[in-house]
Amino acid sequence: MRHFALLVLLFCSCSHGTENLYERSFYSMGSTVELKFYSPNEELFHRVVNACVERTKEIDRLFSNYRDDSVLAEVNRNAGVRPVPVPGEFLSLVRTSIRYSELTEGAFDITIGSPFELWRAETKAGRLPARSRISDALGCTGFRKIKIDEVKSQVFLDGDCVRLDFGAIGKGYAVDEMVKIARESGITRGLVNFGGNIYAMNPPAGKKSWDVGVRKPGSGSEIISRLDLANKGVATSGDYERYFEHGGKRYSHIIDPRTGWPAEDMTSVVAVSKNATEADVFSTAVSVLGPRGAKMFARKDKSLGFLVVGKNGKRRSCFGSYTCP
Ligand code: ADP
Ligand code: MG
Repeated sequence: MRHFALLVLLFCSCSHGTENLYERSFYSMGSTVELKFYSPNEELFHRVVNACVERTKEIDRLFSNYRDDSVLAEVNRNAGVRPVPVPGEFLSLVRTSIRYSELTEGAFDITIGSPFELWRAETKAGRLPARSRISDALGCTGFRKIKIDEVKSQVFLDGDCVRLDFGAIGKGYAVDEMVKIARESGITRGLVNFGGNIYAMNPPAGKKSWDVGVRKPGSGSEIISRLDLANKGVATSGDYERYFEHGGKRYSHIIDPRTGWPAEDMTSVVAVSKNATEADVFSTAVSVLGPRGAKMFARKDKSLGFLVVGKNGKRRSCFGSYTCP
């Protein structure tokens, strides 16, 4: 997979009146979180950083598929067996995810767990999954198999092989939650970057926007596009190399829910939206559907914008609010 990378360019580390820029990174859920906040003092900044660290831990305890004590693991273990009582926050992100499945014609679907796990395990063992197993795994997907009981706050997966996976929404969601924490503490200018899922808050004083550069997929340092962002989310189809490999061929870690096969490695996507959660979701959905999807989504929602680049890195198309470089 050749991926875009997002680079935060040109921001002033100088102080602006009563505010200074503070920065901190920490590691969470397999990626790095970068916080850049303008704060009137260091104490406030530290308090916000600590709250962000705690918040990502909470989110991890709910949605992680790498730990067997997460709420997600409990829901998956009880697939086809019984409804599982879940915290309101879990229910809420499941509900949000189902809504995005409906909006993306099912291209984004958190029930992708079974085929995703099949591809991961088989390519790791040096094989391609057998066709019959791919079609079996596909039978374990479909967002309509998620049954929600709002009153009892329960989630039931209708089929013993159905597995949820928040990999394409969790980081964007965590970014938005950290931005919420910062704003509630009175910080309005800043930027949060969680493994390429970014939210740009108000820009530094005296600036109109944050300047985020899009690096050409697969190439050294060439910046092919610059985004002026203020109060917007942006995500790429993956800004670090994550893929399955077999026989020297790389397969996307985004699975096409229509086929159970990895999305064609023909496009790299940058998605801009009103928040980081949406940018995360739609970058994945456009990776599945290609330019057709970008066109359709941008037409329906004017706040969305996409840059889609073909395999050879040459054919660039922009959609909606994204102005082509
Ligand atoms: P990245 O992690 O590179 O930012 P994404 O945000 O697109 O990439 O998320 C990809 C992850 O989402 C996969 O690792 C997998 O856990 C999960 N996933 C794969 N395909 C889909 C899909 N079609 N819909 C929802 N989630 C998916
Ligand atoms: Mg995504």
